[in-house]
Amino acid sequence: MSIRFYNTINRKKVEFEPITPGTVKLYTCGPTVYDTAHIGNFRTFLFEDLLKRFLIFKGYKVYHVMNITDVDDKTIKRANKEGMTINELTLRYTKEFMNDIKSLKILPADKYPRATDHIAEMIQMIQTLEESGYAYETKDHSVYFRLDSYDSYGQLTKIDLTKQRSTERIINDEYSKDNPQDFALWKAWDDEDGKVFWESPWGRGRPGWHIECSAMSIKYLGNHFDIHCGGVDNIFPHHENELAQSVSATKGLFVNYWMHSEYLHIQGDKMSKTLGNFHKISDLISEGFTAEEIRFTLLSAHYRSKLNFSLNQNQEARTAIQRITDIQQRLFELKDSAQTESPMPDEFEEFVAALDDDLDTPKAFAIFFGWIRSMNNLLDKGELMLSQINGGLEFIGKFDDLFAIIPEEEIVPQELYDLIDKREKARLKQDWKTADKIRNLLHKEGWLVEDSPSGPKVKPKK
Ligand code: AMP
Ligand code: ZN
Repeated sequence: MSIRFYNTINRKKVEFEPITPGTVKLYTCGPTVYDTAHIGNFRTFLFEDLLKRFLIFKGYKVYHVMNITDVDDKTIKRANKEGMTINELTLRYTKEFMNDIKSLKILPADKYPRATDHIAEMIQMIQTLEESGYAYETKDHSVYFRLDSYDSYGQLTKIDLTKQRSTERIINDEYSKDNPQDFALWKAWDDEDGKVFWESPWGRGRPGWHIECSAMSIKYLGNHFDIHCGGVDNIFPHHENELAQSVSATKGLFVNYWMHSEYLHIQGDKMSKTLGNFHKISDLISEGFTAEEIRFTLLSAHYRSKLNFSLNQNQEARTAIQRITDIQQRLFELKDSAQTESPMPDEFEEFVAALDDDLDTPKAFAIFFGWIRSMNNLLDKGELMLSQINGGLEFIGKFDDLFAIIPEEEIVPQELYDLIDKREKARLKQDWKTADKIRNLLHKEGWLVEDSPSGPKVKPKK
């Protein structure tokens, strides 16, 4: 079946076809590195990870670029407050972000361009816009995009600009602009910027936020590429402005599919730094969440529906993950006697079809867990056929390629194996006292021993 994605610009699901067969060029708006990213941000980054894993699963080669916003009002303000240069501040939070990405098993992007390394490209794009009448310099030597020069403005947001204009004019005091809605491409230096500025044809200043994503996406993916992602708050004004300035600068097409994930909420409000209602990844880890439980919690809702987060969701995630590892274990134990030729279960096709339909994770999860239930029933009744084993294990493997929620095997230290061996020998001699003593010792060291028909199994205590 073909893939269908909800394209924000079409306001509906449309068939997905990349520009170059077999390859997908993907740009995702990255973090503003003035502080630690919160799990709301990571809901968006995990949606993008799922999208990318899914495209890889479908056989595409994905080339992925994620920018790092390392200069804006927030970074400048925070660096001044901390008595650091913006470079020191943003390097610290970029490092933290990369650690979080790794610990959440998010596939790394092919490139993470930093805004401050691309000022020349941004200046060049602004000059192109100015030369063709899409941009103008104001008295204070800032440069603005001239909204009236671009007829298609509002395609992503579907906003009625004529209505907006009259209200905005009242609240907007930047009267040096030709139109209050014109947005900044280049901001002239002012006292608050301190030592943060770059020389440009318009004097000292720094780029506006939107121009960085246009300049960097075009540099690394070309004028016209496949998918551009972000959270819904990126639609306006960020992506709307990016679209306007990119199309005006290149005089051609920019992005084919715009995909946006909904907010992560907490007690009914959007999780955000401004409201102070956020959790960081490290907070969740110290609350007992594992990376896999965080992934499960943030990925089990559909990316286009709001998701309300609470700390007790890790219980639900833990139970679900345990169900997967238990069935995997049961199938592994039977694997030796299974035939090598083994078809995928019928449910696999339905599972993929659910994901083909705009990444319908709730439906895909319902199919997958329904299949686990039926496998367990067959196993309990002794009715599972050997031909179902390898296909079943492959289904679990594919599921995990997409969601990455099965914990990686803990490495069991050799001393533990020696102890387990000793305990087995004691059990064989019916020396229960020694066997229990060793079990308690292992427990103290953080390991659980379970006796199964195929011998003792050891796993880390949760
Ligand atoms: P920022 O670091 O503010 O530029 O945000 C990085 C990404 O996180 C953007 O794509 C935002 O749309 C996204 N984002 C911010 N808050 C939330 C939230 N509460 N839920 C989902 N995504 C969010
Ligand atoms: Zn962006």
